[in-house]
Amino acid sequence: QHPGSVTVIGLGPMGRAMAGALLDRGYGVTVWNRTASRADDLVARGAVLAPGPADAVAANEVVILSLTDYVAVRAVLEPAAQALHDKVLLNLTSATPEEARAGARWAAEHGAVQLTGGVNSSPTGIGQPDSATLCSGPREAFDRHRPVLEALTGRVDHQGEDPGLAALSYQLGMVMFWTSMLSFWQAIVLARANGLTAADILPSAVETATSLPETFAFYAERIDAGVHDGDVDRLAMGVASAEHVLHTHTEAGVDSTLPAAVVDLFRRGMEAGRAGDSFSSLVELLAKPGD
Ligand code: NDP
Repeated sequence: QHPGSVTVIGLGPMGRAMAGALLDRGYGVTVWNRTASRADDLVARGAVLAPGPADAVAANEVVILSLTDYVAVRAVLEPAAQALHDKVLLNLTSATPEEARAGARWAAEHGAVQLTGGVNSSPTGIGQPDSATLCSGPREAFDRHRPVLEALTGRVDHQGEDPGLAALSYQLGMVMFWTSMLSFWQAIVLARANGLTAADILPSAVETATSLPETFAFYAERIDAGVHDGDVDRLAMGVASAEHVLHTHTEAGVDSTLPAAVVDLFRRGMEAGRAGDSFSSLVELLAKPGD
């Protein structure tokens, strides 16, 4: 049985992978992209290239949006606003929670429903079992169009009615992803300045990373209980350690922006009178805007 038809707007690496996964599963796919040539391969595989965004929206009830940001979403959809009535916008464009909520309100004003989605996958993971989409917005629309989402990623999870929730969950993942990956780049830079390669330090980097879940669990419980006792670690010890990291960078003559920022946060914790507390007390400091 034919699974149905959907529209995909935005054919960057993600949108192309998504349209391809839908074609693989037998969906009829209409696409539109600002740079039309990015649709060539998909058209060769059976997709229909719409002449403009309004035609693309009009073609199907479900419209997947995979654009750079919500500025691009507005730029594409505003001229197509007349066609939005009764449409379900599956907006898989990254955004802040507030942007996602504003986008959902704007869609509702034009008679459309927005489901916000955060895709936890690289383009190569689209259509594969270990990828996931975090989704929020009206449950009824999610349940009805779940098969489309399941064609895109192995797992789909409805987080709640608030359209901002999926964006928040996605950003919670990304805050850790970007800083973790930058910390790995930083270690590589330091290693290379000392004659080692990325491959040389990979085993110890993996060991450090795999030790973290246990550490997360230990501190998560204490943080939720408001406990920052200095029985396991003390901020005063932490600042000395962070300074060693910083000075190893200055000795090596490489950029030290990231380790300097870490030292700065530890020192602010010391100035706030937390020397004898755990470095988990930095969560209290970070809860307020910095100077
Ligand atoms: P890209 O930024 O590479 O491409 C997205 C599309 O946005 C392009 O087709 C581009 O059109 C279009 N676009 C940008 N600005 C405008 C505009 N003003 N008007 C019309 N079209 C515009 O993004 P990706 O495909 O990599 O990602 C799409 C979304 O998915 C992003 O929100 C990203 O954060 C998210 N994401 C990406 C991942 C990745 O690994 N790539 C992983 C998880 C999520 P044109 O081709 O004409 O430039």
